[in-house]
Amino acid sequence: MKSEEDGLPQEETLDPQDWTKLRRLGHRMMDDAMDYLEGVRQRPVWQPIPPEAREHFTELLPVEPMDAAAVYEEARQHILPYPTGNIHPRFWGWVIGSGSPVGMLAELLTGAMNCNAWGADQIAIEVERQVIGWLKQGLGFPHDASGILTNGGSVSNLVGLAVARNTKAEVDMAQEGVQSLPRPMVLYASSSTHSSVRKAVELMGLGCKSLRTIPVDARYRIRMDLLREAIREDRAAGRLPFCIVANAGTVDTGAFDPMEELADLAQSEDLWLHVDGAFGACVAFSDELRPLVRGMERADSISIDLHKWLHVQYDAGCVLVRNARQHHATFSSPASYLARARRGLSGGTLWFNEYGFELSRSFRALRVWMAFKTYGMRKHARLIEQNVAQAKYLAELVSGASELELMAPVALNVVCFRYVAEGAEQEAVNRLNQDLLASLQESGVAAPSSTLLQGKFAIRVAITNHRSRREDFEVLVRESIRQGRELAEARFGSPAGTPAPIGV
Ligand SMILES: *Cc1c(COP(=O)(O)O)cnc(C)c1O
Repeated sequence: MKSEEDGLPQEETLDPQDWTKLRRLGHRMMDDAMDYLEGVRQRPVWQPIPPEAREHFTELLPVEPMDAAAVYEEARQHILPYPTGNIHPRFWGWVIGSGSPVGMLAELLTGAMNCNAWGADQIAIEVERQVIGWLKQGLGFPHDASGILTNGGSVSNLVGLAVARNTKAEVDMAQEGVQSLPRPMVLYASSSTHSSVRKAVELMGLGCKSLRTIPVDARYRIRMDLLREAIREDRAAGRLPFCIVANAGTVDTGAFDPMEELADLAQSEDLWLHVDGAFGACVAFSDELRPLVRGMERADSISIDLHKWLHVQYDAGCVLVRNARQHHATFSSPASYLARARRGLSGGTLWFNEYGFELSRSFRALRVWMAFKTYGMRKHARLIEQNVAQAKYLAELVSGASELELMAPVALNVVCFRYVAEGAEQEAVNRLNQDLLASLQESGVAAPSSTLLQGKFAIRVAITNHRSRREDFEVLVRESIRQGRELAEARFGSPAGTPAPIGV
């Protein structure tokens, strides 16, 4: 493009020529977003994506520009109506947080600043330092421990376990790698442990066989006797036990491993103790629930998710490491183009890229900082307690309904149940409940997820939702019975599941 006067190409930018027009669009988007949150209860939890909407996302790479307002209109039509539904009061699938209105506003600031929070002397580093300090305080970790915000529990587990491996290895892991280990390194976790732990172990080159899976007791907690036995056997066979992974809230049932006993064992066996508290470490903020994690503060590393039960907008997790030197040694790789200086922009004292794998990182700390300050941890503690009380209430409702069965003790905030069909085969009951789950979701009524408990398909309600009310659980139970009856009738010809006579 040539300008008229001097014949030089006109320089371009992504900034608008007309800021007033973009500002107007921004205000409209803000209003729509507020309406979206305020009106969430009136919408279905989830709705299947219609073919037209799906089709919309097969267009080729856009080459020519388009008006931002028109792009937004497409988003409004084809994107906003079809999320998983996790901001809805009757979403209870997997372990997913609801976010918060102020968290949404924080995203706007994050976008405006567009910081790269790897290091350098910028305020993003101080905010992250403070947020990590708050978490150390809340979880009872020492002041001089280190930590880093991550995109979630999976990466936090990887970071914690990598520090464990490098610290406990009998060779210099950074230099020699796993192939130089004089004997295999092994670690321990219960059979209810999250799959990210296994992934981390595979990625670290140890092979998933080195992760010893220890059975759980009736309350889905690691069996201490079998753990002790496994360690003994491994030592006798010449392997090097190096780490125990403890669960603070398992994904399937929300169970807590006995932290104090695990900390004692790790200490006497000289093992690293990593706590996967992605889901449940935050109960430490509640006076009422803190006893569940007593002993967690003795761990060598803890992973905690902030985007789950603490409702920070996705994504935000954190890993804390007791020994900052060991943490730094695992992830600091010198590079001349990242050299520090005594003053100026490179004069910062804390470089987060030396505490994790990522170099470029978003300013996650801002969304944590703004939400924590606005709501305060006392409110978060009450919301966690409220969800736990709601889980008890739901368990009572389920127990009181003859057509429903409670399938696991409610340790905290996870309720597993199913529709029972008397006299039907286990496989048929499993299929019926799979259909019931899909039907609850597709009708837009509620969105639980599922798990398998001793081969039985369970509808799993994990309550990490600050918008849920008691009446929402009444709706769930009512609809489970109604839709379950319909399905049983269609399948077995009678609601109680008595199989219809052959040939009818
Ligand atoms: C969710 C979860 C993870 C994985 O965390 P992401 O934030 O999804 O990466 C790990 N462990 C437990 C117990 C979890 O609940």
